[in-house]
Amino acid sequence: MKAIAVTPSRREVALIETEAPRASGPTDVTLRILDVGICGTDREIAAFQYGTPPAGCDHLVIGHESLGEVVAVGPAVSRVKPGDLVVPMVRRPCGHADCPACQAGRQDFCYTGDFSERGIKSRHGFMTELVVDDERWMHVVSPALRDVAVLVEPLTIAEKALIQVEEVQQRLPWVCEVRPDDPRHTCHRAVVLGAGPVGLLGAMALVAAGFDTTVYSREPAPNPKAYLAEAIGARYRSSKETSLEQLAADVGNIDLVYEATGASQAAFELMTVLGTNGVFVFTGVPGRKAPIELDTDLIMKNLVLKNQVVFGTVNAGADAFQAAIRDLGVFHQRWPAALRGVITGRHPVESYRDLLVGKPQGIKHVLRFAS
Ligand SMILES: [Zn+2]
Ligand SMILES: [Zn+2]
Repeated sequence: MKAIAVTPSRREVALIETEAPRASGPTDVTLRILDVGICGTDREIAAFQYGTPPAGCDHLVIGHESLGEVVAVGPAVSRVKPGDLVVPMVRRPCGHADCPACQAGRQDFCYTGDFSERGIKSRHGFMTELVVDDERWMHVVSPALRDVAVLVEPLTIAEKALIQVEEVQQRLPWVCEVRPDDPRHTCHRAVVLGAGPVGLLGAMALVAAGFDTTVYSREPAPNPKAYLAEAIGARYRSSKETSLEQLAADVGNIDLVYEATGASQAAFELMTVLGTNGVFVFTGVPGRKAPIELDTDLIMKNLVLKNQVVFGTVNAGADAFQAAIRDLGVFHQRWPAALRGVITGRHPVESYRDLLVGKPQGIKHVLRFAS
């Protein structure tokens, strides 16, 4: 069977022939992989910046944003059945008895760092034809979402962030009108930094949750990302045309910043205009560059005098996967064209190299393993 793998010791990215995995446990599920999305993490692994093959193996099959169809189930499987469309989770627990996060099924908060991740760290990923995994890692999606369900995994980043933002903003129960029919409803104002797939999917989740949302990114409008942001009811502002002061004046009190670029300087500069009682969420992983100058007195003063909260977030738990599947359904209803527009192209497996090693234009590229 075909797979796309990196061999770090030989600095090689290749389409390889590999043995099909065999189901062995009673709760094992066999998936036929349909779509696999490509993101910055895959490109960094293909550039050998990280990515760890499984123990005893010289190569790592990559890919972590996937959609599969169940083709076989073990005798004790109860949550999925053949024909179901499923999105598997990526991170697996560290197995240490003294890691309360992993012990509680929340390996996205793992303390030891010994977790594994399919397609990234110590486990083969999903850029292949067949995958076997335990049913507990599978999340079923409706066939109506077939064409966009590969976006579930990248959307979980925003969903995990939003779950935590909600926990923080519960400290302000008198700000937004309470709607018994829509308990998630909020009235806060959010700025999304960056208009890549994480930023745009985040903007969709924020708009769906009721946030007044502004996407702040480099490219001047008009451009396809600005068009997409406006199509979902968000504002788009280019950092080349709109200063931070203007942005803050346009938005009003910035209650939330959702950082989705990995550019630390732009992020910390934006932090200086975070509003009173605001929350700043980091999701990007910056490359190591030279240190920059920063007005730390101003940032610290604001953090204290404005009751601000800053946190980073990585990976996602089962709750965020469920929220992503729910919200993808909402996006599909409200903005079908914009949602499809997040996927720039679906490509045959053979075109992996340009997408992983080149610098493809657009938003999200997907490899089609089967249809
Ligand atoms: Zn990804
Ligand atoms: Zn752990």
